[in-house]
Amino acid sequence: MSWERQINIKSLEHIKIMREAGHINAAVLASVKELLQPGATTADLNAAAEETLKSHGCVSPFKGYGRPPFPASITVCINDEMVHGIPHPKRKLKEGDIVSIDCGTIHRGFVADSAFSAGVGEISPEAQNLLQVTEGALYAGIAEMRKGRRTGDISAAIQNYVESRGLHVTREYTGHGVGRKMHEGPQVPNAGKAGSGLLLRPGLTIALEPMVLIGTHETRVLPDQWTVVSADGSLTAHFEHTIAVTEGEPLILTVL
Ligand code: MG
Ligand code: MG
Repeated sequence: MSWERQINIKSLEHIKIMREAGHINAAVLASVKELLQPGATTADLNAAAEETLKSHGCVSPFKGYGRPPFPASITVCINDEMVHGIPHPKRKLKEGDIVSIDCGTIHRGFVADSAFSAGVGEISPEAQNLLQVTEGALYAGIAEMRKGRRTGDISAAIQNYVESRGLHVTREYTGHGVGRKMHEGPQVPNAGKAGSGLLLRPGLTIALEPMVLIGTHETRVLPDQWTVVSADGSLTAHFEHTIAVTEGEPLILTVL
């Protein structure tokens, strides 16, 4: 069965463990964020993440994932790179870059998955706006993560938030359920129709992850078979949290 169809409702105990995983994942991302300075290499960022993961006795589900196996614990994307960038010891950050970091943490058999984008030093007003819109789109999606709503309500909220601000949201890469595996159902696209899709109920845990592009929504994959870039070379950004649907407010699991 494909991952999109494996929907697992979590108990309160499972969600508690995922909250711990999310807390550790947030600490990992914070340790990477401190290093976003000109001259740091993307391999330095991965090393910092691995050190923080190790200090909590955890590993990332990214390492060894897929074909060809992903070689690092985080993905690092610069400027037009949107997702799945491979850290490299010769790739240095420069003043004015925007960098997207995605990390997962496996803790007591459960996964937390989260990402952020940030600038290196001074960034352009256009880049600043891109970051704000992408993070805003994530929170617009989270606001829909309530019992009784549908996955299409989340997708529509993200799409409307981005497009009403003149930017573009990816069609190919989606949010996803997360739990014992990094990818479970339901799949939650970043664009869609309100009122459609799976009915949300307490115990669903979903990673929402809007990826926003300035030029068009088109992307392509580089010859390394991992790095996804905007087709037109325009800037992109990516924010992600793992969130639980509860009886009440959405519960963001991947925060400190
Ligand atoms: Mg992620
Ligand atoms: Mg994800």
